[in-house]
Amino acid sequence: MTDWGALSHDLASIRTVVDRAQVKLRSRDFYWYSPILKKRLRDVTADLVVMPANEAELIETLKACHARRVPVTPRGAGTGNYGQAMPLKGGVLLDLSLMSAVRRIEPGRVRADAGAKLIDIDTEAQAQSRQEQRMHPSTLRTATIGGFVCGGSGGVGSVTWGGLRDRGNVLGLRVVTMESSPRVLELRGDDVQKIVHAYGTTGIVAEVEMALAPAYGWIDVILGFDDFGEAVRFAHALAAQDALLKKLVTPIAAPIPQLYFRPLKNIVPPDTHIVLAMIAPLAMEAFEALLRSWRAGVLHRGDRDTGRSLPPVYELSWNHTTLQALKVDRGITYHQVLYPAPDHVAKVMHLHGAQGDDVMDHLEFVRFDGQVACFGLPLIRFSDERRLLEIEAQFAASGCPTFSPHAYTLEEGGMKRVDPVQLAFKREADPQGLLNPGKMIAWERPDHDGARQAGHLFPAAAGR
Ligand SMILES: Cc1cc2nc3c(=O)[nH]c(=O)nc-3n(C[C@H](O)[C@H](O)[C@H](O)COP(=O)(O)OP(=O)(O)OC[C@H]3O[C@@H](n4cnc5c(N)ncnc54)[C@H](O)[C@@H]3O)c2cc1C
Repeated sequence: MTDWGALSHDLASIRTVVDRAQVKLRSRDFYWYSPILKKRLRDVTADLVVMPANEAELIETLKACHARRVPVTPRGAGTGNYGQAMPLKGGVLLDLSLMSAVRRIEPGRVRADAGAKLIDIDTEAQAQSRQEQRMHPSTLRTATIGGFVCGGSGGVGSVTWGGLRDRGNVLGLRVVTMESSPRVLELRGDDVQKIVHAYGTTGIVAEVEMALAPAYGWIDVILGFDDFGEAVRFAHALAAQDALLKKLVTPIAAPIPQLYFRPLKNIVPPDTHIVLAMIAPLAMEAFEALLRSWRAGVLHRGDRDTGRSLPPVYELSWNHTTLQALKVDRGITYHQVLYPAPDHVAKVMHLHGAQGDDVMDHLEFVRFDGQVACFGLPLIRFSDERRLLEIEAQFAASGCPTFSPHAYTLEEGGMKRVDPVQLAFKREADPQGLLNPGKMIAWERPDHDGARQAGHLFPAAAGR
């Protein structure tokens, strides 16, 4: 039995939260996007929240927790979608939001504390050097850089720069291990993969060094199409224009905008499919030239329709599409699927409309392993778990791997299989298995056969 009074005494000089309601509140993330996880994780809570303000306090916290065999679950802003930051086995919820300094901005790179908000990093980088992060989740305004690197995959900007796992996006990580005397390691090059998207199971990130890109002051554009196939083919053509500077290319099928996008009320006509885009001002003429050969209408341009008060278009994209729908209908959920290149457009159109009225298409164009491809984050009118599995099987049968947002383990969600590099590093950095327990199946069940499953979601990052 853990003596919580004694642990609090050990950590007396560090900010903690003990109030039960507050602790429970901070033990949540956006797991409720999934009706399956909503039921399964409802009662999950930590015993204590600890908020280190600097690396020395972080080390002190890990040392004290290690000595008492207390599980530790890190948290940035708690915007993850699959219960990643939820402490399945109780213990300490390690809130890193006070470690928030933006330390250094140089040409092409930024170094920040793990708890720094993405929006603060962009604001600072723009003010100091007219740069910004190459990519960010649509939760730019709320999420932290440590949470993005450890729980996210990519997002706005991935159409140009690929995902977090692509070499050259995450440049370096300062990581604290979970040992009797925690070590501080600087991981660089391929070693960053020991931590990226590992849900904090393999070490606690204290600092992140990320690549930056020029900040162009993007122009939001919303296009309307009568035909979804035309919208998708246009989106591919735009994504494939390497020299045309863009940060977002998002096709969304009717009736999603009409039913669920309150901010676009009176902007999107009935039965119209849309493509959201962010285009650099200097690329606008090239964009207009491209557009001329497509049957599309311009429904909104951020540089012209300045009287409208719309959110930035990225807050209608990625997982904000689902959030907009959930604001209107709590019966909505979603799935995540990759339409692999080179026949991603054909795959989308093969499945479009064929899965039933309860599946509504939302795509995000990206660079994936160096090629233009697209992810699907279809909205789904939830009926039951059996139907979700049926939809998953339809995708699989069409050669489109899903990565379930209805599971909280690394293997069942994004990675599709045990990551041997992360497993080996966990043995070194967290030999007692105290970091975010329950999230890495391979650790809990060494006989798990995930390693034999076909395909790694990120083959290049996995060393192939
Ligand atoms: C509306 C909405 C839109 C979203 N859009 C996107 C998107 O476009 N792309 C995308 O990738 N994700 C997206 N997400 C998921 C999520 O917002 C992002 O991944 C975000 O970057 C997570 O940051 P966070 O600070 O909230 O992390 P948290 O949710 O707090 O943590 C995420 C994971 O990282 C671990 N962690 C946090 N900090 C550390 C640390 N310092 N060291 C070690 N482990 C740590 C946590 O334990 C957890 O496993 C979206 C979520 C929502 C709700």
